Amino acid sequence: MIVSGKEVAAKNLEKIAEQTKEFEKKYLRTPTLAVIIVGEDPASQTYVRNKINGCKQVGFNSLSYEYPDGTAQDEIIAKIKQLADDSSVDGILVQLPLPKGYDEEKILANIPDSKDVDGFNASNIGALCLNRPLTVSCTPLGVMKILEYIGADLRGKNAVVLGRSNTVGKPMAMLLLNADCSVTVCHSKTVNIADYTKNADILIAAVGRPRFVTADMVKEGAIVIDVGINRVDGKLCGDVDFEGVEPKASYITPVPGGVGPMTISMLLYNTLASAVARENER
Ligand code: NAP
Repeated sequence: MIVSGKEVAAKNLEKIAEQTKEFEKKYLRTPTLAVIIVGEDPASQTYVRNKINGCKQVGFNSLSYEYPDGTAQDEIIAKIKQLADDSSVDGILVQLPLPKGYDEEKILANIPDSKDVDGFNASNIGALCLNRPLTVSCTPLGVMKILEYIGADLRGKNAVVLGRSNTVGKPMAMLLLNADCSVTVCHSKTVNIADYTKNADILIAAVGRPRFVTADMVKEGAIVIDVGINRVDGKLCGDVDFEGVEPKASYITPVPGGVGPMTISMLLYNTLASAVARENER
């Protein structure tokens, strides 16, 4: 069965829009997300545009700051600090990857935990590892929502995560572990990846390699979630060879229209949660 992330995300957005109206009635202000982009990478520009459009769709305010590649790192950090001190801003997002030469870790460290709606800060990752999640990274959270939507029974299942990035693979593995899966994480140094994937009841592909997962690597009836976004001959494709794998999978997400829309809806979900938490702390 092909799972439309687009459909699941649309339902989430409707719910967030309703909750935003309630928030405005109660707190007499509108949730606000600030987005910072550095450089002219077309894919990043598209992601930022989609995030801003998402804000409009659910009724958030959005602030967008665009800096040309070469802008002094201190200038970007100064903007983050200003947004951190602005009580009307609920979430701050720096679009990654930053162009070469910027110290991503140093820049992101200036986003306060309470406004880290991407969930990339060490304390948010740490809280997830302790199974006391605060703000969880949007893409892995979106994958969990898809698994919840299809009613996947995760307890005791073998989950294999391909990729170990701090933003996708690692938090994904933690979420699955917290949901009682037995988790294996594979990466570029893993020998014979297929030996692991063939045993996966749940297979999450986040390697950024077009059609990396082929039918012979997949267990019959597995749930296959394709996080990858690759461009081949001007067309988008995932990390899974969709045509080959789809007949074997019990559930599979397409690219585009799978995990991507979920990521944006989870960003808005995190922003609203941050707005509510900040109001409750006042
Ligand atoms: P990343 O930071 O480049 O990490 C890629 C991971 O895949 C690394 O852990 C790397 O291993 C591993 N890898 C690369 N080649 C491999 C190979 N041949 N065999 C096994 N493992 C391999 O990428 P990312 O940010 O995690 O993103 C992964 C993919 O998801 C990309 O296509 C990205 O565009 C996409 N993405 C989609 C969304 C969405 O909303 N749908 C959001 C974020 C990312 P090492 O650690 O050993 O180098």
